[in-house]
Amino acid sequence: MAPRRWALWRQGPRVIVYCLLSEVVAVALTLRPSPVAVDRRTLLILGSLLVLGVVQSETGRRLERIRRRVSETPHINMTSVWTFAGVLLLPPLLLAVLVGGLYGHLAVRSWYRLQRVPASRTVSNAAIIVLSCYAAQAVLRLTCDGDIRSAMTHGWTGTFAVAAAGVTFFVVNALLVLPARREVGHTAEALFGTWSDNGLEVATLCLGALNAVTLATLPGLVVLVLPPLLLLHRTVLVKQLEVAAHRDGKTGLYNPSGWHVLAERTLSTASRQHTTFGLLMLDLDHFKQVNDTYGHLAGDAVLRAVAQTIISAVRGRGDAVGRFGGEEFVVLLPGVGHPDIGQVAERIRRAISTLKVPAGQLTITGLSTSIGIAVYPTAGTSIQRLLDAADTALYHAKATGRNKVVHVADLA
Ligand code: GH3
Ligand code: MG
Ligand code: MG
Repeated sequence: MAPRRWALWRQGPRVIVYCLLSEVVAVALTLRPSPVAVDRRTLLILGSLLVLGVVQSETGRRLERIRRRVSETPHINMTSVWTFAGVLLLPPLLLAVLVGGLYGHLAVRSWYRLQRVPASRTVSNAAIIVLSCYAAQAVLRLTCDGDIRSAMTHGWTGTFAVAAAGVTFFVVNALLVLPARREVGHTAEALFGTWSDNGLEVATLCLGALNAVTLATLPGLVVLVLPPLLLLHRTVLVKQLEVAAHRDGKTGLYNPSGWHVLAERTLSTASRQHTTFGLLMLDLDHFKQVNDTYGHLAGDAVLRAVAQTIISAVRGRGDAVGRFGGEEFVVLLPGVGHPDIGQVAERIRRAISTLKVPAGQLTITGLSTSIGIAVYPTAGTSIQRLLDAADTALYHAKATGRNKVVHVADLA
């Protein structure tokens, strides 16, 4: 593709500068003179890591294709199993060849075909991995003055050096991807990934270290890492499918089935302990006009912004917010009864009315929502009854002018 059509240029100026800078530094560090001689054995190690990496990603492709259909989350990247082994065994130039080879293969076979990831993203991801590898290698060299083979002769010092290299790889990588992640969002999860993302990264680094020890002692046994690796991949996939089955893809809120599981659990706790809980049903006012005026994509952005607003307004109980299709939301508030629930609903209504949603060059404002309230057990003793009651209250809010909160108990 012609350079002027690269997807990179569609990014913000700061991202462009950051990507180019990290790529230049990665290339410069790769080409610096290295005192390490490249012997046949080192080349064999590079070859084995490349072949195993390719085999692993080819066997994982079927799993990735399944995941693509049900979950929006990015490709499960387990390349650290090979790259971290490379950190511990290969000189800088060959390490860069390893990273380039593995990322090139993934880009062509998986990322581009399954997710249309542009080549510029692959290049900057690879550059960031190369830099993380060099940082980890610098820590190892500083402590042991060599690779894992010399670390193995240093007893506990060597052990700690390998561990420190792993920690460095993890931390430097997390810091280097931070600027790109800030473009996605500012929550801790958007910036640093979920606990399970990080758990997976730690697990792959551990396997990478074991790989290096194996390659330095009994190289043939390195294939033993493949079965646990595929099992790990599958486990992550199952977890993501579980989450996806209960989530609404557009907003990340619970979908009706996920919400019902939580609601039934709250109901049985409340009935056992004779406590109360509240339920809010929200429907945006004249949402069709938003779509008609600004387009469907802007409408979707509004739905996401509203979802975030509701979550912030019920902070601490955020998990109980669901999207019931279209622009209807349902909030479950365990332990909240009359009159507090009115205040929560009012807080959400007010927050939505002050919302400013960017849509291209324009900003969408003037949104409003109608909210119906029902409280257990006065409005009903089953979830369906409570939903019906909240829906009746919502209908009254709509019929009597919109942009208001109506409690079903206040209806004659
Ligand atoms: P009101 O509720 O105040 O009576 O008016 P309304 O215009 O909001 O009416 P209604 O709730 O019946 O309309 C829902 C609209 O929401 C219709 C549809 O175009 C839009 N909609 C439903 N799902 C989506 C979606 O996923 N994305 C976008 N952008 N719009 C959606
Ligand atoms: Mg509506
Ligand atoms: Mg509606």
